[in-house]
Amino acid sequence: MKYVIIGNSAAAIGCIEGIRQQDKNGEITVIAGEPHHTYSRPAISYLLCGKTTEERMKYRPDDFYQKMNCTVMLGRNVTRIEPEEKWLFLEDGTAVEYDKLLIATGSRPFVPGIEGLEGVKEQYTFMSLDDAMALDEALGSGGRVLIMGAGLIGLKCAEGIARKAGSIDVVDLADRILPSILDAEAARPVQEHIEKQGIQFHLGDGVQKFKGNTAVLSSGKEIGFDILVVAVGVRPNVELAREAGIEVRKGIVTDERCGTSLPDIYAAGDCTESYDITTGEHKPLALLPNAYMQGECAGFNMAGSSKTYDRAIPMNAIGFFDLHMITAGSYDGECFIRKNGGDYKMLVSKDGVLKGFILIGDVARAGIYTSLIREQTPLETVDYELIKEKPQLMAFSRTERAKKLGGAAV
Ligand SMILES: Cc1cc2nc3c(=O)[nH]c(=O)nc-3n(C[C@H](O)[C@H](O)[C@H](O)COP(=O)(O)OP(=O)(O)OC[C@H]3O[C@@H](n4cnc5c(N)ncnc54)[C@H](O)[C@@H]3O)c2cc1C
Repeated sequence: MKYVIIGNSAAAIGCIEGIRQQDKNGEITVIAGEPHHTYSRPAISYLLCGKTTEERMKYRPDDFYQKMNCTVMLGRNVTRIEPEEKWLFLEDGTAVEYDKLLIATGSRPFVPGIEGLEGVKEQYTFMSLDDAMALDEALGSGGRVLIMGAGLIGLKCAEGIARKAGSIDVVDLADRILPSILDAEAARPVQEHIEKQGIQFHLGDGVQKFKGNTAVLSSGKEIGFDILVVAVGVRPNVELAREAGIEVRKGIVTDERCGTSLPDIYAAGDCTESYDITTGEHKPLALLPNAYMQGECAGFNMAGSSKTYDRAIPMNAIGFFDLHMITAGSYDGECFIRKNGGDYKMLVSKDGVLKGFILIGDVARAGIYTSLIREQTPLETVDYELIKEKPQLMAFSRTERAKKLGGAAV
């Protein structure tokens, strides 16, 4: 069996590990545009601030590919898939044959067309190890940095360069930071915490145009900068799949076995749409654990076993300047809010199940809330009043507790 994987990040690694749990001998070839050993993408900001090194941010040890018996083709881009012939082609014309193919091409930064942007010489995105190294070099020992985007990637970039940059301004169209994962009330204390590090926000405002190294905002405000970082969102890399005739909406469409609309071609990770059980929507979820689990599911199925992945929920466990937060699910429903000093908790329930939560500061035992969402546990079967205040296993029925503890008597 010839397995070929396009991509070398979380989804690809999940797939390799999934295949090898089922098939110790099949040939696995990994092809990726990035030239590096597999690394943890979220760690690029920690590399910039010196909290990690290139060595420590490796997603798997140096001997991983050897132990998994994989052929690795790094720094090589796939340009075409021919599903009828079961071939794919690299940019230098090399043809690679497959029996089972995984597309795990991830996503790329979205760069909006803004007047004058082409004239900004020092402009960067923040998605890859190469991006981080280029930004680090440009920063040298300082410089005024303007970051477009107060989402997760923009703020992780701000954290990474906070000690090096002369100043950091962050602009976002939304009226709050981290708009896709925090509500206004939760965003405020996080913003204040980040501002204490000297980072300045311009929210509810957008860059209308650039005049050289000055950004002119919709409000008329002008911000001078030396270095621009564009972090306004990502787009799934779907072109290869679309051109091969695979069904694509915003992301590659997959079934619960991670199969695409064409036989023997699977897809996983940020390039796909996932079924979000909290909203019932199919959408791209740019999340590392989701990418890994989809990849692993694809790997099992590619190797002839049967596995499904249908429990995706948007979930983020992140921290900024030592303030930790975990968010999950969606926030449309009845809210329970608790504030205690710097800690913030919001639980959202609807139709008798937990739909989402935000925890800031005290994030202990978030797993209980996540499991309630993932399993869609009816809240009437647990002591929700107790769980609201203090998430703990005792709030579950004896049978549920035993299930959660893997059958142990409780
Ligand atoms: C700064 C930052 C912080 C983040 N923080 C978090 C976090 O806190 N929590 C979280 O859950 N997620 C976080 N993420 C998101 C997370 O990194 C992604 O969800 C995850 O990396 C997706 O993995 P993937 O395998 O689907 O794709 P990717 O990691 O995007 O990798 C795709 C791979 O495909 C290769 N490729 C693409 N096209 C081709 C082609 N044509 N030919 C060959 N190779 C190709 C690329 O070179 C790349 O190696 C963060 C991301 C960034 C950038």
